[in-house]
Parts: sequence; structure tokens; C-alpha cells
Amino acid sequence: MYADAMDAAAGFDLRTPIERVPGVTARRAPAFRALGIEHVAGLLQHLPHRHEFEAEETSMAGLQPDAVVSARGEVTATRVVIHGKKRFEAVLSDDTGRLDLVWFNALYMRDKIMPGVRLRVQGKARRRGPGLQIANPRYEIIDDESEPEARAARLRPVYPASEEAPSKAIERAVDAVLDRALPHVEDHLSDDYRRERSLPSLRDAYRMMHRPESEDEVAQARRRLAYDEFLLLQLGVQMKRAHLRKTQRAPALRWSEEIDAHIRERFPFALTPAQDEVVREIRRDLTQATPSNRLIQGDVGSGKTVVALYAMLMASASRFQSALMAPTEILAEQHHATMTAMLHGSNVRIALLTGALGAQERRTTVAAIREGAIDIVIGTHALLTEDVRFGALGVVVIDEQHRFGVRQRAGLRERSGDGKTTPHTLVMTATPIPRTLALTVFGDLDVSTIRGMPPGRIPVTTRVVGVDKTDEVYGYVRTRLERKEQAYVVVPAIDTGESSGDKALRDVRSTLKRLEGGPLAGMRLAALHGRLKRETRERIMERFRLGQIDALVATTVIEVGVDVPNASIMVIEHAERFGLSQLHQLRGRVGRGQARALCVLIGEPITPEAAERLGAIGKTTDGFALAEKDLELRGPGEVLGARQAGDAPFRVADLPRDIDLLMLARRDAAQWIERSPTLDAPEETLVRGRLLKRYRETLGLADVG
Ligand code: ADP
Ligand code: MG
Repeated sequence: MYADAMDAAAGFDLRTPIERVPGVTARRAPAFRALGIEHVAGLLQHLPHRHEFEAEETSMAGLQPDAVVSARGEVTATRVVIHGKKRFEAVLSDDTGRLDLVWFNALYMRDKIMPGVRLRVQGKARRRGPGLQIANPRYEIIDDESEPEARAARLRPVYPASEEAPSKAIERAVDAVLDRALPHVEDHLSDDYRRERSLPSLRDAYRMMHRPESEDEVAQARRRLAYDEFLLLQLGVQMKRAHLRKTQRAPALRWSEEIDAHIRERFPFALTPAQDEVVREIRRDLTQATPSNRLIQGDVGSGKTVVALYAMLMASASRFQSALMAPTEILAEQHHATMTAMLHGSNVRIALLTGALGAQERRTTVAAIREGAIDIVIGTHALLTEDVRFGALGVVVIDEQHRFGVRQRAGLRERSGDGKTTPHTLVMTATPIPRTLALTVFGDLDVSTIRGMPPGRIPVTTRVVGVDKTDEVYGYVRTRLERKEQAYVVVPAIDTGESSGDKALRDVRSTLKRLEGGPLAGMRLAALHGRLKRETRERIMERFRLGQIDALVATTVIEVGVDVPNASIMVIEHAERFGLSQLHQLRGRVGRGQARALCVLIGEPITPEAAERLGAIGKTTDGFALAEKDLELRGPGEVLGARQAGDAPFRVADLPRDIDLLMLARRDAAQWIERSPTLDAPEETLVRGRLLKRYRETLGLADVG
């Protein structure tokens, strides 16, 4: 990331390996490497996650409790305590007072510290009886020749560390090289650019982070480094986008009043104004010859499916194929069923392609897709396997975006048979991606939002209760089932007997047994989870839809998409185990019909965070608000699925807190790329290099430059 200019005299630069940093012994180097610190640059970039205030050195009388303090004096008494917690104690005194010191499990200290010795100590002082005490202080023995200078107040950096490479050791290593390393740090932003935005130089930012003189310096440094993270990502995203615009062609689909009327004839209801609005935006995209990339977000149940179908039927009307990719087989099956029903009697040919197809069936379907004998294909990521090729793919719809990464999105786009055109892409998400995230990771998408719900929807009532109320809850569920309503019971595991040793966890198998034998005896119950065969699952869902099953005991396989209007009650056991968005998503399965829908969360929050999650879900049914809350509680990595580390690329930046900075970087990046779409001016070498190093892989920038 840095210049390779050599520190000629010393043979030292930012690439100097960590073992050559003074104080980092050969023995300790592997521990540094394990933290990702391989050379001096890595050390500079290993930023403290917080700073601890250390008070200036004072006399004993001036010491403050609950602060890191420094003091010096003479040891006036010591003792060893061996009953209870073994410890060595000493009293340190000066003219103004005394300070008690204690070292636990360190009886050997009696050989080092004895009355008459002069010490300087540092540590957190706590009130202990009438005086102050430091436990396990840092200390140095002062001999007559080496009276050290009084310590000034300072902010001590606290580093992400390990047992083998503790924060102290990292601090020492940074101290040893900082002054020599900083001059090698080159800035990819010009002085003018920085001045306009009140950002410090990169050199200053690293200095202020590692060795701040004030809280304000830490804030300034953070701001610069967070800005850089946002800027690089945004530059990458916009560069990619400009590149696609310039080099790729999409089929410009036809649209007319007549086509519009034909499509709408297929829908069993009139579109809401919100859906109409989004359809207009989609229509505008699809009639262009540049590939569009649009995120349709709408709360659970807001009616995204017909909007997708509209786009797919526009493709059919122009003799192009379309594909819909869903994250689970159940959801793909359900989309297939819904769409088949709506298209009944038309000449649109529709097929299902999931991993559950038999080999023969699969071969036939794949061949039909290739020959263009299928118009609409609905599937799971089985659509992404090598042999699937489309004759002429016009529109790709990806449902429940958050489950798929950027790369998979690109994967499906590349399936088009002619190799020249790129299909239009629609991405639908029912877990509304928080605005803040939509702008970062999904920054290459245009965003449409379906606001509000189709008419007649009554919001779901949510109750959060403790485990002790379980019987009561099911007693009530029973009364509703007896009135011909239907219910979902959701538990976190399929079968704890096999999968984990966690016997306390509620699973599908034992919950079904418990309910059948107890509170729901005599009701028609069935289990539903991902390990069942597709036909079995389809049969169960179909019977549930037809009202032949009263309650489904399920895992989160029902999380997305499943649509049975008569199901009006949901009970979620171990609710504390689920994420906020997931709970909201699950809850969205009920309240699709007329009955007063109810969602009961049974849980014992064991962490404050879990308690806050359950509190939030109980209070609001607004998916957008919950998604923002989720982001705040868990951070972007978790929200997106931590496996895609490349999708949550921030070390310093913190969303949603830094949203203003993000907006600034986004605007700056847009203007920058507009001016210089490939960043290849000589003065852009540095920024371009850093950008590619960081995002070539994740954003697929290889072909850009
Ligand atoms: P989601 O946005 O969660 O995917 P769906 O597309 O599954 O929502 O729609 C939820 C329910 O609302 C479905 O039963 C669907 O048939 C119904 N629906 C969608 N749009 C309308 C509308 N304009 N009027 C009445 N019902 C609608
Ligand atoms: Mg849906």
C-alpha cells in the first residue's frame, strides 16, 4: 500500500519484515504475523481500537481513583499473604501520602521489592478502604543514577492483540518504527483535495492514531481513515459501473399499452400505486439497451413477486427468456407454483430448476432452456451450474438478495447464450437492506422501494414472553386452531440429537412430539425442514395451503416467501437465537390474510444485545427501522453474512454512525469517476493501485484495468 522508496541509509522501508523491527524478537514474530502484521506497513495499519487515558504523574495526595495513574515513592512496608488469594503487598509512600500495591499469585515479588527500594508505578487506581490501591501495577525500580522524568498525561493506544502478542508489545514495536516509517507514507489524496474536506494527511492520520495528543486528534485520524475506506469502495463500485455502461449491451425490450394490458390481465388483483411506481421504473430500465441493475426493496408481504413477474413477462413479450433465482428450494417451488397459476392458459412456458431434480429431468430441462423452449425459469443456485445456458436471456430476477453475494449476481448474468448481451438484473429483497448498506456494498444498484402494503393488511401483533409462559401460549394457539386458523411453530434446529450436543435447544422433532402429546393433541401437525425431500416438502406445503394441516413445526426454511394467507399465528421458540431481520422475516409469514395475526416470541435473552433485539421486534413492524437497528447491533459483516468478509470491508468506518462521511465519499467518488472513468492519470497511480489491491477480486475489476 505504500511507496517502495528505500530508507537508503538504514535499509528500512514499509516492506521491512516485522522480525526486523527493534524489539520484535524472532520468537514473537509469528504472533505478530498471526495478527496480520507482516511488515512495517502492516504494523502502521494495525490500528488501536481504543485509547486509554493516562493521568500525568502526581504526588500521592494528587492521585485520582478509577484512572490510570503514575506515582513514585519509597517502599515503606511489604508483606506476603498466603491464605485466601495468595498475594504480595507493598506500601509506597512519599511526603504527601501513600499508595497500596498488590501483586496476585506473585510471591516471588518479595525478592525484588523490599522496604527502602524506590519505585515508579503505573496502573489503574481503585479506592480500597480509606486509600487507593493498584493491583498488578507496572513498576520500575529507580536507582540513584537514573531518576526518570515525570510522566506527562497521554492517551495510550490499546491494540487488537493476542496472548502471544499483547497490546504492550505492539505498542513498543510501533514506537520503535513510527518516526522512521511515517515519512515513507504517501498520500493518494492531494493537499487541495484534503483541505477542501478538512481531512488530515495520511501521514498525520497514522501518527494521530498511534500517538495522539488529544481525543480530537483521534477523531480526526478516524475520520480520514474511514473516509478512505468509503472512498476506495465507492470509486471501485462507480468505476465498475461506468465500465459496464460503456462496454455492455442489453436487449432493449418492447413495451406498449397493449403489452401492459396483457401482462396485467394475468394478475388476480390490481397493482397498488406503490407497485405501479416501481413497474414504471423497471419499464424504463428494460426498454434501454444498457444493462440495468435494480434493487427492489419492500417489506415482507409488500408484493414484490408480481412486480418481478411483470418484468419477466416483458421479456417474454419480446421473445426473450427470463430467470428467477431464489435462495431456497421451498421458495423456488413456491414461486413456481404461484406463477404457474397466474400464467395458466397463456402460452408462456415455465420450468423449475433446483438441486432436487432427478438427473434425467434435469437434463431435459437444461436442454429446453438452451434451445429457448422455456420462457421463464425459476430455480435456486442450481441455475448457476456450468451446464445451464440460456438461448436468449433478457431478464434476471434474484429474490432475497441478502443471501447472495455480488459474485453470484454476476454469475447468473453471464449465463446468456449469445455471449454478447447482458440481461437486465432485478434484485429483490424482503429484508430491506438498510439505506446505509445499500449505498455501500450494493452501491452499483439503482434502488426502487415498494412502500406500504397491499390493501386490507392488518399489522401483526407481536408478544415477547418468557419460557414459563409456554403452556399458556400453546393453550391460546389451540383455541385459534379450533376456529380453523393455522399456525407456524418455529424452532432453531431440526434434530439436536444428531447435529449438536446442545440438548437444551428446541428442535423440530422433539417439539412436534411434545406438542402432539400435550397442548396441541388431536390437532393435525406436521414437520417441515430442509432435510426433507423436495416432493415431501411440496406435499406438506400443499396440504398446509389447503388447510389439511393445522400447524407446521418448522425450522427457518419457512423464513422467506412462503405465502399461506390463512396462517395467522406464529410461535417462535428460542427467539433469542435469531437475528432481528430473521425474526421480522419469519413474522412476515403471518398476517397475509384477514384474521388478526399474532406472533409470539418465546425466549430468554441471555445477553443484553439479545434483549434489545427482542425489545425492538416487539415494538415495531417496520422492516426498514428494524434493518437499521440490526445493522447497529450486529454490524455490516454479520448482517450480510460474515462469510463474505470482502463484502464488509471496513476496519475503521462504522455504520450507521459514519453515514455522513459515507455520503460525502459517495458524492466525491461519483464526480471523480465522471471526470476520470479509469483513474489512469499519472497523479492517480497511487489511488488506483490501492483501489485495485483492495477490490479487484470482490468487485470483479479485473477487466476494468
Ligand atoms: P413479498 O414482497 O414479501 O414477496 P408477495 O409478493 O409474496 O410479497 O406478496 C404478498 C401477498 O400479497 C401475496 O399473497 C400476494 O398475492 C398479495 N398481493 C401482492 N400485491 C397485491 C395487490 N396489489 N393487491 C392485493 N394483494 C396483493
Ligand atoms: Mg417474496
